[in-house]
Amino acid sequence: MSKIIQFSTIGALMAGYLQGDRLFSQVCCGCNFGLGCSANLDGELTIYDGTAYEATAGHALQTLDFESKVPFIQITNFQPEQSHIIKDVDHTTIYNSMKRFIQFDNILLAVSVQGTFRKVIVRRPHSSYTGEDRDVSKIAASQQVDTYCQVKGTLIGFWTPELFGRISVPRFHFHFLDESKRKSGHVLEFDVEQAQLSFEEKPTLEITNPKKDQFKQMKIDINMLDEMINRVEK
Ligand SMILES: [Zn+2]
Repeated sequence: MSKIIQFSTIGALMAGYLQGDRLFSQVCCGCNFGLGCSANLDGELTIYDGTAYEATAGHALQTLDFESKVPFIQITNFQPEQSHIIKDVDHTTIYNSMKRFIQFDNILLAVSVQGTFRKVIVRRPHSSYTGEDRDVSKIAASQQVDTYCQVKGTLIGFWTPELFGRISVPRFHFHFLDESKRKSGHVLEFDVEQAQLSFEEKPTLEITNPKKDQFKQMKIDINMLDEMINRVEK
């Protein structure tokens, strides 16, 4: 599959459209790899080998039911075009590390980094419990941050050019899943001594917009939105 299938946009999510709209099963058809979040931003989703793992603060990692609704998801069938062993790479150096293999500033990529990490810092939101409407800034501010050391696992994610910065998280966006499928979340920092870097160019991005009136009626302040995406997601 040469495309990324996406429901909603990071812009709509950050502007506060957190309701699940599409069922996970409607979006994921035949896809094995991706990321997103669960309804009401109750958890970070990592899709690996066709299973979606939901990371919520204070809860054991659980699998997401295929009939759950999701407010934002990016998913694809990942078939790496290139795989390379990389050494001494962290979140600040991976861009230059990849530049040796591909010119990717203006294209979309699915990317995985697999290895034993010296350190991975991930964050997970707290569940809303009652499903009440929540403010994205407050959810972001109160997330649980965990640091894992000497952990085997995989970074699963995408590279999105700045050009698409309101559609998807600009630059690298990784979620982590450890080998034992117990630790997961949105990656803030990582550091790995040696890892297998794999990536695949995705020339097509297929986006389905939410259809609910609540979305259609939203007033979105673009300047605030850009600030929010930079602050919360990068
Ligand atoms: Zn994320």
